[in-house]
Amino acid sequence: MTARLLDGKQLAQQIRSELAEEVVEFIQNNAVVPCLAAVLVGNDPASEVYVRNKRQACEAVGIESQLHRLDANVDAEELFKLVAKLNKDQAVHGILVQLPLPPSIEASRILSAVNPAKDVDVFHPENVGRLVQGRPRFLPCTPQGVQQLLMRSGVEIAGRHVVVLGRSDIVGRPLSIMLSQRGPGGDASVTLCHSRTRDLPSVTRLADILIAAIGRPKFVTADMVKPGAVVVDVGINRTDEGVVGDVDFAAVREVASAITPVPGGVGPLTIAMLLRNTLAAARVLET
Ligand code: NAP
Repeated sequence: MTARLLDGKQLAQQIRSELAEEVVEFIQNNAVVPCLAAVLVGNDPASEVYVRNKRQACEAVGIESQLHRLDANVDAEELFKLVAKLNKDQAVHGILVQLPLPPSIEASRILSAVNPAKDVDVFHPENVGRLVQGRPRFLPCTPQGVQQLLMRSGVEIAGRHVVVLGRSDIVGRPLSIMLSQRGPGGDASVTLCHSRTRDLPSVTRLADILIAAIGRPKFVTADMVKPGAVVVDVGINRTDEGVVGDVDFAAVREVASAITPVPGGVGPLTIAMLLRNTLAAARVLET
C-alpha cells in the first residue's frame, strides 16, 4: 500500500483564500483592518524566519502586521511594558510573542501578561483553561492545524484511537485534549505518549491515527505503525539531508493509508490558523 498524501500546503492555500474573503468583508463592515503585532526578542535565525513568514502570510490575506523588535539583552521590565502597550492599543487585535525568549526572561510570566482576548497563540492560562473546559476562545495554532487537516481531508476522528507522541504545551497536550473533546473534530479515544512511555511501539501500533510531535528525526519507523493507519508528522528537524519530520516518511508511507509530508504538511496550516485566530480576535474586540 502507498499512502494518500495529506497535502497541508494546498489546504492552507484554500483556507487562506477563504480568510482573504472574510477579511475583506470584515473591513467593509467595521472600517477596521485586523492587526497582528509580533514581538521578536534578539535575533535567533529560526525565529527571524518564522516571524517573517507569519508577517508575509498576514499581508497576503489583508491582515496588517506589526513587528516590535527588542534587543537580546533587554530586561524583562522593558518587555512587560511593550506587552502592556500592545494590550491597550485598540489598533492591535492579536499579539504574538515569538519563542524562545532569552533564558534570562521567564517566558511563562510574559505569556501570562498578554491580554487573553489578544492571545492568538493560546498560551495564557485563562485560554488554556477554557480549552480544557471545552469552551475555547481560540484554538492553539498547530493543534488546530492538525485537526483541520484531518477534518478537511475526510479522516474520521470520532470513535477512533488516536495516539499522540509528545506532551508539549504547544502541540501534543492541547492536541490530545482537543481530539478527545465532545463534538466535531473530537470524540476520539486518545493516548498521550512521551519519553517515559514503556514499550512505545506496542502503543503506537494500536493507533488508527498516529500523530508524531517529538522533535526526533525519522523516529517513527514502519514497524511502529498499524497497517492502514493515518500518520500525521508535526516534526520539523533540520538535518544534513535537509528538513525532515519525526516520521521515516519513505518507509511509513508503504504501511499507512494516509500521511503528511515534511515540509508541506502541518507547517503551512499552523500559520493559516494564526491568521484565523487574529481575525476571530478582531471580530470579538470590534463588536
Ligand atoms: P518539545 O517541547 O521538545 O516536546 C517533545 C515531546 O516529545 C516531549 O513531550 C518529550 O517527552 C517527547 N519525546 C522526546 N523524545 C521522545 C522519545 N524518544 N520517545 C517518546 N517521546 C519523546 O517539542 P514540541 O515543541 O512539541 O515540538 C515537537 C516537534 O514539532 C519539533 O520537531 C518541532 O520543531 C515541531 N513543531 C512543528 C510545528 C509546525 O508548525 N509544524 C509547530 C511546533 C512544533 P517528555 O515530555 O517526557 O520529555
